[in-house]
Amino acid sequence: MQTPEQGEKITRNGAGLRVPDQPVIPFIRGDGTGPDIWRATVRVLDAAVEAAYGGKRRLIWKEIYAGEGALRKFNNWLPDETIDAIREYRVAIKGPLTTPVGGGIRSLNVAIRQLLDLYVCQRPVRWFEGVPSPVRDPGAVNMVIFRENTEDIYAGAEFEQGQDETRRFLRLMQENFPDRYQRIRFPESSGIGLKPVSREGSQRLFRAALEYALAQNRRSVTLVHKGNIMKYTEGAFRNWAYDLAENEYGHRCYTWRQWERAREDQGEQAANAEQKAALDGGALLIKDVIADICLQQVLTRAGEFDVIATTNLNGDYLSDALAAQVGGIGIAPGGNVNSDTGHAVFEATHGTAPKYADKDVVNPGSLILSGEMMLRHLGWNEAAGKIIKAMNAVIAERAVTYDFHRLMEGATKVKCSEFGDRLIASMQA
Ligand code: NAP
Repeated sequence: MQTPEQGEKITRNGAGLRVPDQPVIPFIRGDGTGPDIWRATVRVLDAAVEAAYGGKRRLIWKEIYAGEGALRKFNNWLPDETIDAIREYRVAIKGPLTTPVGGGIRSLNVAIRQLLDLYVCQRPVRWFEGVPSPVRDPGAVNMVIFRENTEDIYAGAEFEQGQDETRRFLRLMQENFPDRYQRIRFPESSGIGLKPVSREGSQRLFRAALEYALAQNRRSVTLVHKGNIMKYTEGAFRNWAYDLAENEYGHRCYTWRQWERAREDQGEQAANAEQKAALDGGALLIKDVIADICLQQVLTRAGEFDVIATTNLNGDYLSDALAAQVGGIGIAPGGNVNSDTGHAVFEATHGTAPKYADKDVVNPGSLILSGEMMLRHLGWNEAAGKIIKAMNAVIAERAVTYDFHRLMEGATKVKCSEFGDRLIASMQA
């Protein structure tokens, strides 16, 4: 792997990331349609930086490898050098990767997240005017989901039905925790999964959401949980988040739990007055909702949601359900972030769509908007803003790739690369 001659490393000090004017950014092209969307993306990102800073700043790209590309070159799905490079240069971007079938690696994406402890999965969901949507008012959707990325049922602490170790585990339960064992309806034929949710894991995720909401002047953070049923995991997630908000951010937040306490002590009117005074004074509202109700409300009253903080499995469902409201998989960006160290990998959220590989037809929007998130992570908001403005302009012209074209009457179908060309032309205009 070659190290670029120019460029400097992004570092971190107490105040946050220190980003030089020419940061080295490792990138993974990805498999299948990855190279198609990467070719369009890299040109758009370079053009956005040029348009915003006129040569004063520049991204210095360094290619790193994972997936089939790495297998071909190094006979290894995920070389150590790839992880080392991301660790060293701190911020990277990647296209989709083929999931190896068989072998030791469950998923390359999961491996990268775990190795770098990227505990926040950040998914902004916004609608660009003109994008086909199944809902009546997609313009009301403008949310950022913070999904916990390391715990919950995804930890992989599972026992397969019928195995010796599973019987041993169940026996252990029966002997030590008979009350809970009795709640298992069919123990002999059950597989078992454990759902660890910790205070540290919950609070670091919530802190990232809170800091983001404060920095970006958002109105609220909603905790999405299933605490009515899973009291000691999902319910605890909610309580630990409220604890953090009240104990460490009390001067900048107002929580629904405070409102409940005020209502109990002084009645509803006084509680409402207290909340109003706090919000009028600029406090961020911290509220919570049960996950199933949330999935209804993001459809029926999307405008009430802003930043969302949630556990891993809820976040998985919610991210995809919301992405579908605003144009689907071709345009949904994502970032995996460790907010303590600033390490981050931004990525297309869809897969490799191999049937379209090298045809230059798929939508590059997901990776381009992941690049937009990356620019914001670097603090290069002006360049990120150029991309959003150009996306709005090009989609408003109804120049779109096949996935949108088949849903939009009278639109012009453009290739993946042409969509990139049009974004660049719009930024240069
Ligand atoms: P997929 O690659 O996401 O493709 C499913 C369908 O989504 C495509 O057939 C296409 O729909 C649509 N689509 C995906 N990307 C698009 C784009 N850029 N523009 C427009 N439409 C797009 O899912 P898959 O076929 O299940 O998975 C293929 C491989 O990718 C597997 O190896 C899987 O493990 C891997 N994967 C990787 C990631 C990742 O690296 N982040 C994520 C998921 C899956 P139409 O056919 O309707 O046009």
